[in-house]
Amino acid sequence: MFISTRDDNKDLGVTFQHAILNPNAPQGGLYTFFKLPLFSQEMLQSFQNLSYKQLCERLFSSLNLNLNPNLLQQALQSYDSFDNPTNPAPLHTLSKNLFMLNLYSGPTRAFKDMALQPFGVLLSSFAKTNKTPFMILAATSGDTGPATLQSFANKEYIKVVCLYPSGGTSDVQRLQMTTQESKNCKVIGIKGDFDDAQSALKYLLANKDFIHKLNNLGISLSAANSVNIGRIVFQIVYHFWAYMSAVKNGNITFGEKLSIVVPSGNFGNILGAFFAKKMGLPIHKLVVASNVNTILSDFINTGVYDISFRHLIKSKSPAMDILKSSNVERMLYFYFGAKRTKELMENLSTQGKYSLLDSELALVREDFSAMSCDDTQCLQSIAECFKNGYVLDPHTAIGYYVAKTLQEKGVIDKSIILATAEWSKFAPSVNTALTQGQILESSQNICDEEAIKTICAKANCTISKQITDLFNKDEVQKDVLDVAKLESCIIEWLKTF
Ligand SMILES: *Cc1c(COP(=O)(O)O)cnc(C)c1O
Repeated sequence: MFISTRDDNKDLGVTFQHAILNPNAPQGGLYTFFKLPLFSQEMLQSFQNLSYKQLCERLFSSLNLNLNPNLLQQALQSYDSFDNPTNPAPLHTLSKNLFMLNLYSGPTRAFKDMALQPFGVLLSSFAKTNKTPFMILAATSGDTGPATLQSFANKEYIKVVCLYPSGGTSDVQRLQMTTQESKNCKVIGIKGDFDDAQSALKYLLANKDFIHKLNNLGISLSAANSVNIGRIVFQIVYHFWAYMSAVKNGNITFGEKLSIVVPSGNFGNILGAFFAKKMGLPIHKLVVASNVNTILSDFINTGVYDISFRHLIKSKSPAMDILKSSNVERMLYFYFGAKRTKELMENLSTQGKYSLLDSELALVREDFSAMSCDDTQCLQSIAECFKNGYVLDPHTAIGYYVAKTLQEKGVIDKSIILATAEWSKFAPSVNTALTQGQILESSQNICDEEAIKTICAKANCTISKQITDLFNKDEVQKDVLDVAKLESCIIEWLKTF
């Protein structure tokens, strides 16, 4: 059963299918688990010999998702398009105490594929069963959009509209969207930053007139951003997988604790790790790594979530440029319950901030640590890691910096960094890091394609076909609009079917 983070009255509980199709929960909350299973050591031990797909089935059955087994099988088949179908999330050893989980071996080369690929199959199937065409509205800072389009392209009963901040993504990310030819997909650039795109999305989702027009066309709305619990569930699995892999690789002995370091934005990835920890996985600290937008690391370190004085800073790790981090709400609910969560979230909307009590913060800090990393430290980390033969993308580099620093301070010991994107998606920044180790404006003008070639030559490597193919495709989706024009543009598009 899934309940709202702001009203957990059992009578308002819904099924997994309902929560996926209608992600807006009562009282403006988010759907979350009413109760999590807790695994004993023996049970966890029995997970060691499972394949990735079996592990997912096992966890989902404990979470009582009540999915049709054939449907889940079909969803999990989407991992067959990953680099290694039997290991969609391989764990690499960087050093004796530091490991890296590669979450970007899917079609759009970012961790979003881990959840969105199978999620697309579920949603399309649910829509078909209900004979209700659904429209997915997605706001992306660059990686969700491509992964969403890739997930729903040509899927029955689904239309996708994808909003991205025009000029706020890399060339590769833009091309991954604007070259999308599938007829059921519409890509629109928004004049503004990611928060503007996300606000536009929230505005549309709450706009009765818009919803009414959609209903007249026979279409219901859903969302595929990380507030959808259907994505979070798939993001629990690879934390278990990573732990089991570390045992298999001989990095740790069974039962030994590991910390997990997560380059964070909307708090969806680390929320999966949080749920895994609460289900009994031996995790020492969940480490939030932030970029110059330090809202999350400040919150974990001070208990104050304050956006009233902040503005968004554009960084070299754009997928983490965010101020309103939606999934924090699910963590608050887990610790403090619906009444307190509602109170805190209402403070956020009326005063732009909320504060935890000391006793509440102490609870959070038993599980979490946090630190931020600026652009200079990020690029230096890319250069440093390159000496050891790894090319990091700027998001993963933030995880690397934070993991190294907190290990030196003795806050964490053995740790897994989640690698959230392939460097090829952010090649100009990586190129800058490898040439100067600092930001020089002149090298900023180099385009993605050129930067990729330079880095491949330097690192003596090749990149995936998914990326090289992009540069030979036509950009067929060219709309860039003011937020005000959005609604009519979408309705007109829907009328063409
Ligand atoms: C989405 C994304 C993140 C942030 O993940 P959240 O789940 O939003 O915290 C980090 N890195 C990359 C490359 C991403 O695409």
